[in-house]
Amino acid sequence: MSIIKVMSENLANKIAAGEVVEKCASVVKELVENSIDAKAKNIKVNLLKGGLDEITVIDDGIGMDEEDALLAFQRHATSKIYKDDDLFFIDTLGFRGEALPSIASVSEVILDTCSKDIGTNIHVKGGNLINKSLSDARIGTKITITNLFYNTPARLKYLKSDTTELANTTSFLEKEALAKPEISFSLTNNGKEIFKTSGSGNLLKTIHEIFGLNTSSKMLAIHALSDDFEIDGYICKPELLKSSKNQMITFINGRVVKNFDINRAINDAYYTYKPDGKYPVVIINIYVDPTLVDVNIHPTKQDVKISKINDLYNLIYETIKEALYNSLLIPDAIKDEDKEKIKNSFIPINNYVDVKGEQTTFDFATPEEPVKNEEFKSLILHPVGLCLGTYIVCDNEDGIYLLDQHAAQERVNYENYLNNLKKEQVNIIDLLIPINIELSQSEYLKFKIYHEVFENIGFKWEEFGINTIAVKSHPFWLKTGYEEVSIRKIIDLIINLEGNFDPIKFRENVAITLACKMAIKANEHISMLEIEGLLNNLMTCDNPYNCPHGRPTIIKFSIYDLEKMFKRAMN
Ligand code: ZN
Ligand code: ZN
Repeated sequence: MSIIKVMSENLANKIAAGEVVEKCASVVKELVENSIDAKAKNIKVNLLKGGLDEITVIDDGIGMDEEDALLAFQRHATSKIYKDDDLFFIDTLGFRGEALPSIASVSEVILDTCSKDIGTNIHVKGGNLINKSLSDARIGTKITITNLFYNTPARLKYLKSDTTELANTTSFLEKEALAKPEISFSLTNNGKEIFKTSGSGNLLKTIHEIFGLNTSSKMLAIHALSDDFEIDGYICKPELLKSSKNQMITFINGRVVKNFDINRAINDAYYTYKPDGKYPVVIINIYVDPTLVDVNIHPTKQDVKISKINDLYNLIYETIKEALYNSLLIPDAIKDEDKEKIKNSFIPINNYVDVKGEQTTFDFATPEEPVKNEEFKSLILHPVGLCLGTYIVCDNEDGIYLLDQHAAQERVNYENYLNNLKKEQVNIIDLLIPINIELSQSEYLKFKIYHEVFENIGFKWEEFGINTIAVKSHPFWLKTGYEEVSIRKIIDLIINLEGNFDPIKFRENVAITLACKMAIKANEHISMLEIEGLLNNLMTCDNPYNCPHGRPTIIKFSIYDLEKMFKRAMN
């Protein structure tokens, strides 16, 4: 009886297919989500030509008996009728029941499944049952899709090249594997392994299996709770930044989501730890009562709306900031993958040196205890000198450090300016002779609109002749001898203000601009005394590792790296 029903629904299925299935990755998604629902511990996805020729998903889940297997090709086949609210309950990924019939209506499907002792094999093409027989399948399900969109040419032409289709599927499956570290996922294309996770249940190990040592060794664990949210996961040290947001991955109750405010919280937390246009690698799980999550858009899309988003923003922002603040973030000059190369290029000439090697393999059982920023502050660096008029060389018992003198001083200046700008009470210096700043007519008008901004940070001024302002007093923190340049810079920022005035952003801008302007430039030779002063000042900074633009101030060559490069180390 059910077979007849399946046939009559073909047309509806084909229409629904257009909603659910757009590309190979969406087929893989639906099949993999079915496998997860079937409680699989191992899920293998094998593609031919990126899925264009064939998509096979094999799982060791509970499988289906003959009746269930036939029902699976019917619309709303499962008891889980799709509801928006269901989507974010932890134990169901939702949106079931329509996927397989839809896929089957626009392709050729061979299903091999077994739940107890007798296996079932079903062959469906274009939604029509071609064959049903017994199968020797073991417990679990194997499903193979070929001829995708063969009967819907309009959709067929929307399929991309095999490389693009493969990239989409890889990206989807990587995220799925990160969301479910307890499940082993593997992906092959044309018989070649793309990636494989072990299903260890350890998120850091899964990150390692997917992104490699260079990423996993630069991750910091986070965990925090608020009244409505719990978050955990990993964030990267600022030395590991990407040019795209692809590796900013967030899950709500195990489901991949994209949310503007969540991404903003992450980016804001990395403020000055990274340059604009660079993005961190973060994998964050968010656990929340599903009633606070609203899927107001098409269910295959990942956008969601979250109630109490400000609480979540603060939780993510504070947690990441704290993790960065509490970690020693001096990047190694040598990348991990290059360390491997150096190691492999080793040709033993003699072995007279016996150096204790630092462990380069990764121990997932004992996550590294975060080293407190205090430790950076107590770091003893012995200055050796200045190279190229730009880089300060220091050493200690761990290795050699290089500091960019401009970046380092920019950081010191920035925190100094910002702290002063944040103060409610500003100490003011009255000028005996006012500093006159001449403006163009339009600049002057613009200045008049925002003049309170200028006064609020500690300046007093009067009109003086045409389009000229006479500054009578200024805040004490302007660098002596550079008062006029500083005032000019601040006025430039004011006359470039637009739209809604954001005092926090304005202060940031003032601090960054003056910090850069007042910092020693490259190719300026500074004395040993000045070097020592700069080092001491950097030690007191909240984030000593980056200039306010997010570029590094300090990098390290560990003794171990040096010994490897000079072939003094054997391992
Ligand atoms: Zn600069
Ligand atoms: Zn900078």
